[in-house]
Order: sequence, then C-alpha cells, then structure tokens
Amino acid sequence: MPLAAGLLKAQLDSIPEIKNRLDVSFHDFYIDSSADSIAGSICAETPDIIGFSTYLWNRDLTEEICRIIKNRFPEIILFAGGAEASALPGKLFECAPFDFVIKGEGEFALTETVKRILENKPVQGVRGVYAKNSINDAEPDQWPVENLDALTSPFLTGVIDLKKYSGVLWELSRGCPFKCSFCFESRGVAGVRQYSLDRLQKELELFESQKVNQVFVLDPTFNHDAKRAKKILRMIQKTAPQIHFTFEVRTEFLDSEMAGLFSNVNCSLQIGLQSAVPEVLTNVNRKIDPVQYAAKISLLNSSGVIFGLDLIYGLPGDTIAGFKSSLDFALGLQPNHIDIFPLAVLPGTALYDNAEYFKLNFLEYAPYTLLSSPGFSETDMDRAESLKNAFEILYNKGGAAGWLFMAYETLDIKPSELIENFAEYIRSIQLVERFSGDELIEPQISFVKMLFKKHNKSELFPVMKDIININGAMNSSLYAGPYTGVTRISFDDNTRFALSDGTKFLNIVYSYDDLMQLGDFTIVEFLANFRPEKTSVIIYNCAGVVKPLIVSEELSGLLQLFTGNISLKEILSLSPSINPDEVYEFLEYAISETILYII
Ligand code: SF4
Repeated sequence: MPLAAGLLKAQLDSIPEIKNRLDVSFHDFYIDSSADSIAGSICAETPDIIGFSTYLWNRDLTEEICRIIKNRFPEIILFAGGAEASALPGKLFECAPFDFVIKGEGEFALTETVKRILENKPVQGVRGVYAKNSINDAEPDQWPVENLDALTSPFLTGVIDLKKYSGVLWELSRGCPFKCSFCFESRGVAGVRQYSLDRLQKELELFESQKVNQVFVLDPTFNHDAKRAKKILRMIQKTAPQIHFTFEVRTEFLDSEMAGLFSNVNCSLQIGLQSAVPEVLTNVNRKIDPVQYAAKISLLNSSGVIFGLDLIYGLPGDTIAGFKSSLDFALGLQPNHIDIFPLAVLPGTALYDNAEYFKLNFLEYAPYTLLSSPGFSETDMDRAESLKNAFEILYNKGGAAGWLFMAYETLDIKPSELIENFAEYIRSIQLVERFSGDELIEPQISFVKMLFKKHNKSELFPVMKDIININGAMNSSLYAGPYTGVTRISFDDNTRFALSDGTKFLNIVYSYDDLMQLGDFTIVEFLANFRPEKTSVIIYNCAGVVKPLIVSEELSGLLQLFTGNISLKEILSLSPSINPDEVYEFLEYAISETILYII
C-alpha cells in the first residue's frame, strides 16, 4: 500500500487552489518491472509533475526511470521524497535529474512547493525542499507535521481504496523517543507526535466496514505510552475483532494487563532485541536487563500472545560468538519467529556518521550492508549468513518453534550449535531454500534423527519424531490457510467430497494427549511415565485456527479417500467394516469444521 503517496494526494486535494488546477493520482509499481515499462506507463498519462518515494530497495530503479523520463520529456518536473531522499538529498541530484528533493515529512513541503509551481514562482526557500539550482546551498531543514490531525486521512477521504490492497498500513504516530544509532526513525525531528484517538476510531470503523483482513500498525514503539496503547487495544477489541493486527513493541513497557489486552486481540507482535551482548548494545545506544527482559517476555508467553524478535548481526563490537549468544538468548525466550538481518549502515543515521570510528566497512550503495568490521571478518559475515538461512528454514518456515527447545535441551547443547549443525546438514543434502511447509518435515526428522544418534540418544528419538510430525502438520496447515469456498451442507450417497488444503493426516506412536504433556516433562521422564499408544490425528484449519482431532485409524484411512474423484457410496463400498451412520455423522461435523467440503 503506497501510504506516503496516499497521504500526499489527500493533502494536495484538501487545498482548493491546488485541487482546482491539479489532478493528482498515484500509482504503485513492482520492483521486478523494467525502468522502461514503468517510465512508459507513467508518461502515458502526460503528467506535468512526477514524484517518487525512494527507499533502499527502489533507489537504483527510480534513478533509472527518472533518467529515461527526463531524456524523453525534459519539461516534466521530477521530484523525490522518502527515506533515501531524506538521508542523502544531495547525492540523489548527482545520480538522477530531479528538479527538487524533499527532506523528511513531505505533506507541508510538497503542498507549498506545488503552490509555488502553479504560481510560476521559484521553489527555492521552501522549508524541507532542496531545489536543483540551490545545490550548493546548505541542506534544508525538515518541515515536520506538528499536529498529525492537521493531515487529511487518505482512508476517510477514499483516496486509498482499501479494496485494492491485501493489508493496510495504519499510521498511529510519527517519531520515536529512543535514539538507536543504526535507525533513522528518530533523527531530525524531536519527540513523538500522535494521531488523536477520535480519528483512529473512525479509521478503525472504516477498516471493519470494508472487511480489511490485515493491519500493519506504523508506530515503532506502540506501547511506549502504555495508557494510550491499552485504550487502542480496547478500541480494536470492540470495533475490529476480526482484523489481524501487527504491532511493534518495546518489552520494558509491557505489563500483565497489556499482555492480557494483546491476547484479546487478533494480533502478533514484533520486538527489536537486535543483540543480547551488553557492550554491543551500548555501542548502538541501547541496553537491556536480560533478567527483566525475559520476565516481560514471559508475560506474553503465559498470555498466549504471538510474538517475534529481530536480531542484527555485525553491529559495532559484535563478533560471531556474540551473535551466537544473542541467538541463544533469543531462542530461550521461545518466540514464534526470529527475523535476522545483517547490519545495514544507513545514510542519515548516527551509526553512518560514526562508521569510521567503529571501522565499519560497508557497501557504499543501497542496501549499505556491512562487509566487515574489526570483530566481524568477511568470513564471519558468511558464517552468520549461513546460520541465518538455516534458521529461516528450520524455525521460521519449518515451524520448529514448538519443538526446537526439546531437542537442544535433551541433547544438552546450545540452540546455536543445533542451528549450525542444521546449516551443515542442509548444505550436505542441498536442501532448496524455497522449500516450505510439508516439504520441510522429512528433512527436519532426518536431521534430528542423525543428531540424536550422534549424541547416543537414539532411544529418545521416537518421541521427538512424533512432536516434529505434529508441529510440522500444524505449521503446514497454518500455511495452507482455511477453506474459504462456498460451504454446502446437504449431501447424499452420490455426493463427492474433497479435503481442504489445511487438512493433514498423522499417525503417531504415542497418544496425542500424552505428548501434549511434554512441556512439563523431559523426554526421559516422558518415557518413564507413558507407553506407546498408536494414534491417528487429523490436523485441520478452521477459520485460521489450527486444530487437532483424534480419530480411529479406520476413519482416518477412509477420509483420505475423499479426493473429490469418487462418490460417498463408492468410498463406503471400499470400507465395508465401517458403520455408514458413523460416517454420515462425522461428515456433518467435518463439513462444519471445514475439514472437507462438498464439490
Ligand atoms: S530501532 Fe526502534 S526504538 Fe530504536 S530508534 Fe529506531 S524505531 Fe526507535
């Protein structure tokens, strides 16, 4: 969703003298389109002025598009805004024929500049604007929006058509009270500015009425103002209970009431840990108390809140050993996923200004990735990348969050050692990185079997195998999503049924209910207390919630025949020992739970 462009159009349209003379439209393109085709598509509308939002990932492409357009249509006015323009406005001029560049927030700076263009006045001197013919002047100050409610809402005005996008970017505030040196969120503009709760309530009601599925909350420290965050969570619970929200939060402001409120909302949280090494965090102006941090995270775990952590490797002072200890700490908190990034030394950040002091060697062009530092050699960067890739396959895509801790605790090894072993294993079997869901269960099982054998614990492996199978099926079911087609409920012997994509079948060695007690028992204790008890389980996805259902082996086998090709009568004739009445009764339940559907 091009939120920035939508905000700019809403603002331009709100000023009558501009709206009367200027027809503003915005267009979104994809990074894999060619510069030629994008330039052609834009110019087909014969515009007078074209603006570009520039970010790490589109800067090179944007520059190329601008060169093509200026070459063909020199009279068109070109300008840029966004993260790259704000960080290095002068450099953008060197690389592409822009007429002006906006530094920082664009709404007020652009409306003033457009007014001047319409009045044939020079654009030099507008706050926040760097004009081509003032290139030797000092860079301009930004023109931040002090009162965010002064901005016209692109949602409430219909400027952004919510039906066109699969998710909404919902801006709740601008600015950040913290000053992490690798981040430019808080550079240039002091303090945090917030939209009023009245406005947010109206936008929320609109999202609900338009049946929006996903909202990504744009507020880098959503819970910093705990009172306000709790009010917003209550608003969401009341107004938009069906929508899934993603929040970014800081652990230090979590409390049990807030964890409870998050658990009442359909949401997941993202939390920036970045590193668990105190000296590394000091170098980037952050700090954590590991004991308190873990206590706060346990509030989320005990309330059943889904959350992920972010880690960065290669921060100043970091080493490969430090990165591995950060990974160990992060995994000990049992997050649902961990997003791992190499350090990017972003222009416009304090770290960029201090890169020489820390002897950071990084790419001079986007994405400005660290190449090496005194503590992190190029080889270390490669090792960290291989750990990151293995982790992505095993944990994030492979859904190992539910069993990884059992494996490393049983083997008495560090989580990072297990991930390193997995990195070697996937290299040896040449596992393709794009594999996901079902395709990852077998490699996970083979890997863990090999690891248990290596540590002389093969006798414990069957329990581990059951747990991996259950988690793998749940993960695949989640990825497959719920059945969303038409649900018919009446059927007869000639009806054909098909299984929903999220329906998975499992045969496990131990009882499902016994296995669910493994959180309280170690595998050794489990084996001392429970006997094998062959069990058939159906894992299925009903309205986005993944559920288990224990069934008889016979019923499980029969259900697997529902491929949509043969009728119920033919299926029943293949299983003469099964009572048809039991099947009819089960099918009614299975349809209502979207385990299968009528064709
Ligand atoms: S990393 Fe997060 S907390 Fe730190 S300055 Fe950036 S937005 Fe703020």
